[in-house]
Amino acid sequence: MAIVAIVGRPNVGKSSIFNRILGKRAAIVDDQPGVTRDRLYGETEWAGKKFYIVDTGGIMSETEHPFMDLIEKQVDLALDESSAIIFVVDGRTGVTPTDEEIAHKLRRSGKPVVVVMNKLDNEKQEDAMLGEAYGLGFDEVVASSAEHNTGFGEMLDFITSKL
Ligand code: GDP
Ligand code: MG
Repeated sequence: MAIVAIVGRPNVGKSSIFNRILGKRAAIVDDQPGVTRDRLYGETEWAGKKFYIVDTGGIMSETEHPFMDLIEKQVDLALDESSAIIFVVDGRTGVTPTDEEIAHKLRRSGKPVVVVMNKLDNEKQEDAMLGEAYGLGFDEVVASSAEHNTGFGEMLDFITSKL
């Protein structure tokens, strides 16, 4: 079965999105960057396609490893095993240099990537921030709010079209 990985910096909302996709609290969500425990893989289905979704933040502690080292490993592991990638950035802080580094690695892989700009809880925030998400250089950009459960249909339509 295909695997779809969720990658991104700590605290952008990866575990919240993972839980939304699975429709249950499978991963632990916490304000503290680096808190991801419990089950990391979940089986799900969208548009008639079954696949595994993985919350990569939990592969290792996000706080116990040097930052770029961790991101490198997280993204390498995700690319090794996945057919498509959900790349999450934070719509409140905007795109950071670390996001740019992740984007560079993902672009080189040639795998299908959807950029999900999360924490866009209202339309005003969307307008201001989405341009930065497009600037990462991927064709597919989706605004989401894990808090309000928005953006996930569009995201999963794109992902399943690539599986
Ligand atoms: P992870 O470290 O990338 O797995 O991020 P988490 O899923 O643990 O979320 C980090 C923090 O961001 C938590 O306090 C979440 O409640 C919060 N968060 C996640 N998604 C959203 C969102 O769409 N809107 C807002 N306002 N906060 C969010
Ligand atoms: Mg997490």
